[in-house]
Amino acid sequence: MGVLPTDKFATKAIHAGAHTDLHGSVIEPISLSTTFKQSSPGNPVGAYEYSRGQNPNRQNLEEAIAALESAKYGLAFSSGSATTAVIVQSLPQGSHAISIGDVYGGTHRYFTKVANAHGVETSFTNSLLEDLPKLVRDNTRLVWIESPTNPTLQVTDIQQVADTVKALNEDIILVVDNTFLSPYLSNPLNFGADIVIHSATKYINGHSDVVLGALATNSTSLYERLAFLQNAIGAIPSPFDAWLTHRGLKTLHLRVRQAAQSAQKIAEYLEQSEHVVSVNYPGLPSHRGYQIAQKQHRDGLGGGMISFRVKGGAQGAALLSQSTRLFTLAESLGGIESLLEVPAVMTHAGIPKEAREASGVYDDLVRVSVGIEDTDDLLEDIKQALSVVAESI
Ligand SMILES: *Cc1c(COP(=O)(O)O)cnc(C)c1O
Repeated sequence: MGVLPTDKFATKAIHAGAHTDLHGSVIEPISLSTTFKQSSPGNPVGAYEYSRGQNPNRQNLEEAIAALESAKYGLAFSSGSATTAVIVQSLPQGSHAISIGDVYGGTHRYFTKVANAHGVETSFTNSLLEDLPKLVRDNTRLVWIESPTNPTLQVTDIQQVADTVKALNEDIILVVDNTFLSPYLSNPLNFGADIVIHSATKYINGHSDVVLGALATNSTSLYERLAFLQNAIGAIPSPFDAWLTHRGLKTLHLRVRQAAQSAQKIAEYLEQSEHVVSVNYPGLPSHRGYQIAQKQHRDGLGGGMISFRVKGGAQGAALLSQSTRLFTLAESLGGIESLLEVPAVMTHAGIPKEAREASGVYDDLVRVSVGIEDTDDLLEDIKQALSVVAESI
């Protein structure tokens, strides 16, 4: 992988993996060829043989992802979910995994409906640090966390989890799903994680036009095993999607900083609004994980995601989500455009009400993905939508 004369994020985002071709193209061409010429049997002319194994655009993207996570290695997959599947498939049969309780729904579904059929059993806990000593078994091989969580934005001290896990059993790998923060706000490998994964569909691509997943690691043995599975399973992104994602990540730092700055102002407004029950945002001093966020996130930024409970119950949340003019009512997050959704009836509808409410996902909870429109316009939009709700309940 290319060596850059700097470790500064913005420069890495622009230059890592940005190689030129024979023509000196400043932006890499898209390489659609599925196969590559050999000069004699078994001797490819260049570095590539067959595009499932490796492709110039995917390789460039993987190099950039590794650089942004300050990692030795990066791998790209067809989706965040495929990345999860490949990591879990890499475990020996009969392994045990431990996951935080309010993990991404698709990850929960994979653990409970797919991995178990392959002999991997998973324990879930809402108080990971306390429960680790009693949950870890001889065959435990994986601990899976997200910070902040979706949609209640609870923050976990990654270094503390890593230290606890390694003290219990050195063979356990710690995976951090860093989708909600992006590599700009946090690099979990620096806090002791073994693998960091992303749904690059969200912040890394950032333009809501690609589904793609990625991971990064410093471990040569994990990299070799996962790269082998990437090819053997074939869960790879297309060259075009790899190229688009590489283009998207070049502005990651600008987008995420802007979104986080606007989110901070919106969260502060929501917190003092009489129409709001409570606000979850790691950039607010009232947030339970504020101190951890201060040391774990770049410049203590809270990120671009907020969730809050609006007065008026399920009806209030439904009305609010239909009353905004700039925030689009839609699932997903991390794009340039602002979105909002009601988890209880959208992203988290599959979870039984009792379990949902136990992790703070009430009927009146609204989740917001702050985009990069003008901050004052976004704030005005939230204000007018809240007043529509207030007038009708
Ligand atoms: C969206 C998401 C995923 C799944 O990624 P896809 O690219 O949609 O497969 C995993 N984890 C988190 C936190 C996500 O938000």
